Amino acid sequence: MASDLLGYKIYSKSMDHLIHEVMVSENKTHIISGNPEVLTSGLKEEELFNNFTDKNSIIIPDGIGIVISARLTKVPVEGKIPGIEVLDKILREFETKNKSVYLLGATEDTVTKAVAKLKKKYPTLIVAGYHNGFFDLNNCNDIIENIKASNAEAIFVAMGAPRQERFIIKYMDILPCKIFMGVGGSFDIIAGNLKRAPKWMISLGLEWLYRVSKEPFRIKRLGVIPKFIIKAVISNRK
Ligand code: UDP
Repeated sequence: MASDLLGYKIYSKSMDHLIHEVMVSENKTHIISGNPEVLTSGLKEEELFNNFTDKNSIIIPDGIGIVISARLTKVPVEGKIPGIEVLDKILREFETKNKSVYLLGATEDTVTKAVAKLKKKYPTLIVAGYHNGFFDLNNCNDIIENIKASNAEAIFVAMGAPRQERFIIKYMDILPCKIFMGVGGSFDIIAGNLKRAPKWMISLGLEWLYRVSKEPFRIKRLGVIPKFIIKAVISNRK
């Protein structure tokens, strides 16, 4: 049985196990929503690859392309773990344990709306701070100081991949947070700007089709899914 997918170790246990592991870990953890797009960016950029394969990183199988690649190459995975559900579960845990979070990303309007929605859903959740995701990654001291001052234990970064991963990699060491996770378009969904695919489409692995139907510009990005699968299968045969 293969143990990795194109050099990546994919999280093989259940979502509940993941949440438990992350909550009790003494180390800083970077949770990566492993979909073909993110993992392909890692294959092209050494800094991303080194971080994705670091011992403090956990790649979750978030995307049907990864689940199919894993099955075809006999890499063990339990099934898809959607990043947005991991985010939701961590927030729920944080609410009950009085831990605080920082939300970074999306437009000012979206992140503000997302915070308001989260406060309704999790009334006692401590949102220690938030900021929009439109800034220069190499020149954002004020934001870094704001995150440090917030003392948040987790930071969720919704700036699309791989921008969000670049931010996390650049600042993970100097920020006091323990959990770092890039969550793509999740703030848009929480804010109510976008909807998640209906359950039947999610269960058939067709979330990508729903997203393309709502945001047709995504069609250009779909080619990465079959390319990743083919690459994984070929590499497994060598
Ligand atoms: N975004 C951002 N800063 C940028 C570009 C995008 O904060 O410089 C935000 C954008 O507003 C949206 C999210 O990133 O909320 C886009 O996520 P997308 O759905 O493209 O991410 P994916 O899930 O496809 O990685």
